[in-house]
Amino acid sequence: MKADGVLKHIGRTPLVRLDRIAAGLGAPVLVKCEHMNPGGSVKDRLAKAIVDDAEARGVLRPGATLIEATAGNTGMGLAMVAAVRGYGLVCVMPEKMSIDKRAALAAAGARVVVTPNAPPASPDHFKQVARRMARENDWFLTDQFENPANVRVHEETTGAEILEQTRGRIGAFVAGAGTGGTISGVGRRLKAAIVGVRVVLADPEGSGLAGWVETGKLGPDGSYAVEGIGGSDIPGNLHRDVIDAAERVSDEESFEMVKRLAREEGLFVGGSAGTNVVAALRVASRGDIDEPVVTVLPDAWDRYRAKPWMQAWGATSL
Ligand code: PMP
Repeated sequence: MKADGVLKHIGRTPLVRLDRIAAGLGAPVLVKCEHMNPGGSVKDRLAKAIVDDAEARGVLRPGATLIEATAGNTGMGLAMVAAVRGYGLVCVMPEKMSIDKRAALAAAGARVVVTPNAPPASPDHFKQVARRMARENDWFLTDQFENPANVRVHEETTGAEILEQTRGRIGAFVAGAGTGGTISGVGRRLKAAIVGVRVVLADPEGSGLAGWVETGKLGPDGSYAVEGIGGSDIPGNLHRDVIDAAERVSDEESFEMVKRLAREEGLFVGGSAGTNVVAALRVASRGDIDEPVVTVLPDAWDRYRAKPWMQAWGATSL
């Protein structure tokens, strides 16, 4: 048996009801606390799943180097798995991602390659750089955007846990999409178990994914500050057939909600959690759903302390 140390403690995260922020709405809002995973985010699940799958297929030699294009959280999950299992790690990150994430990855022993904030077709785009470096160096590209082990782990763990924690009573599931693993995997699992459950994409204003959900064509490409979700290309792990609708959320609404989650619910989470909760509150307040609306808190706020939106709350005046 593998000596898996901390990796055994990934998942089985709490599901918490928003008692104050969602009080008086048509349906309760429940949040899955993925920021409480040992590596600090929802991405711990897929980091372990992708490495388990590659080991089982015999494609990972002992001591091999893993490489990933990451907004930072998958990198931290992989750093944890690499430490426990004895692999090297290279993380390719766009410049936009917070300095806190870069510093944490380097401190955890990863080599960090920072790329310009380039469009998907550019050879400088972080996904293209990771793909090229993997090929040139014979490193293992964990490929969270395309690797089906990502969706599968959310079907088998996150989705299954939510079903158990709600005893199958769910009106809607709401989540943003970076790789699409969370919304596709959880959405698929819930739809297989509950007739009529609605799956809603929470998308930052400026991302093209909401338009794609609604019309099949990517919406216009803009910029936004929330990290880890939205985008201007469709990853293989984002499955449109399980998504019923999309909600667009501005940066201001997302960051304001992060502050409210901290000050009214005691939940210390990152920007994409704010996006998810704003969208979930909208879904719960329309009056056409009475069963709980479930969403996820993908990561914790300590990865964003240096960001202007968090600095603006007064931390700099101390
Ligand atoms: N929030 C954050 C902060 C993330 O880093 C990610 C993953 N990039 C997500 C949400 C979205 O998760 P998924 O990749 O499963 O779509």
